[in-house]
Amino acid sequence: MFINNKDTITAIATPNGIGAIAIIRISGKLCFKIVSIFFVSKENKQITELKPKTMHLGLIKQKKKIIDQVFLCLFKKPFSYTGEDLIEIYCHGTLYIQNKILKLLIDNGARLANPGEFSLRSFQNGKIDLIKAESLSELFKAEDELAHSLAIKNFNGKFSIFLKEIRQYIIYLNSLINVALDFDEDNISEFNYKKFRNTLVVLITKIKRTILGFQQNNLLKKGYYLVLVGRPNVGKSTLFNLLLKKERSIVSNLSGTTINYIEEDYFLKGIKYRIVDTAGIQPTKNPTNKLYIKGINKTYETINSADLILVIKDKIEKDLEQDFQRYRNKQIIIIINKCDLLKKKIISKNKYILISAKYRIGLERIKKQIKEKMNKRLNYKKDNIINNMRNYECLKKVLLTLIKIKKTITNYLTPEILSFLLREANYHLGKITKIVTNDEILNKIFSTFCLGK
Ligand code: GDP
Repeated sequence: MFINNKDTITAIATPNGIGAIAIIRISGKLCFKIVSIFFVSKENKQITELKPKTMHLGLIKQKKKIIDQVFLCLFKKPFSYTGEDLIEIYCHGTLYIQNKILKLLIDNGARLANPGEFSLRSFQNGKIDLIKAESLSELFKAEDELAHSLAIKNFNGKFSIFLKEIRQYIIYLNSLINVALDFDEDNISEFNYKKFRNTLVVLITKIKRTILGFQQNNLLKKGYYLVLVGRPNVGKSTLFNLLLKKERSIVSNLSGTTINYIEEDYFLKGIKYRIVDTAGIQPTKNPTNKLYIKGINKTYETINSADLILVIKDKIEKDLEQDFQRYRNKQIIIIINKCDLLKKKIISKNKYILISAKYRIGLERIKKQIKEKMNKRLNYKKDNIINNMRNYECLKKVLLTLIKIKKTITNYLTPEILSFLLREANYHLGKITKIVTNDEILNKIFSTFCLGK
């Protein structure tokens, strides 16, 4: 798509349509020459004599005919957004004037720019790095506070600074290896193993924090997945409705009423959750009912993707916990429902929460635990500076390579192999900034920009 970066390009930089003022941009080698054909400055100066980065009043004239009175601001290479000679014309915002000036520019040698082409040139001329370009694109798309604050943070270079720091660490690790490489094989002890390992650990921790921050922010955006599970009739749907404050799921004393799962958005203290009511798990070992089997498979699938499982029981028993052995690595809250029916008074231990969904007892305790478990998973939220999935994937590859080095370092890897692995980490890092990029990636990023940007 971005064929020729030698052309002089032009576009209307303000939104499509009529406005009080419109801005037309022109950038490239012929920029000053083209504009001087029809711009007459009030100061009676040639374009090149005008003071850069200053507004100059003048007229746009086609032969003797005045098209508009405009302000013009010029930027001399390399001190412009694109790094080339660039002019911005502030004209009156009627469609006629905008199009007339644009046509004059094109008729005199400029080409209509592609979306994002000014920013692409800025990137190609080293004015912005890929991260800044991407965060600009994110800034245009950002429609909520979370997305906006992340994009603006990165536009100000937070992620770029972080990447520079990571690169410095890798260079330092490499220098430690190089010392060893300079020695002959019998002298490998010159490799400062301890220093290398300690630096590696610090580096891994830094990247891990950032990665966790990104994951947690993503979790916040899509909602924390809360899954209610348990035997039929224990009160899952009653609790589901109580949390949502509406009759969303059918409550019945007939066993197996919920055979499919039901999912709803649920907000607790401003944090979004997706809450799911699942089909009850029967105690029978070999179920034959096809509908039940389908429902139950779906339940296990849902449990698999859960961030937090609420296991509901209606009496204190051990067996259900065994059903969930395979989800040991998931976060679980065990809830004993129908406490109103309990004969003996039982003191709730930390192991489970006693509630009565029907009589609305104990709901606050559940909410408190959900919040506590959630907060634990959000402690790196503020460390998020990664601006998109592509960079997240690249940084993850850097991390995995470094972890590989850490794991194998004890196996007395030769400095050559360590150096090779470090180069691999550096390669993935370079993919985030501009060092390793291909046209396809560039097109993908810049084509999301609007015209004139
Ligand atoms: P599910 O199959 O697990 O979704 O269970 P339901 O929510 O459909 O409830 C099954 C039955 O238990 C219904 O008759 C509810 O009214 C009843 N139930 C739910 N919670 C309680 C409770 O706290 N106390 C009592 N006594 N009954 C309850």
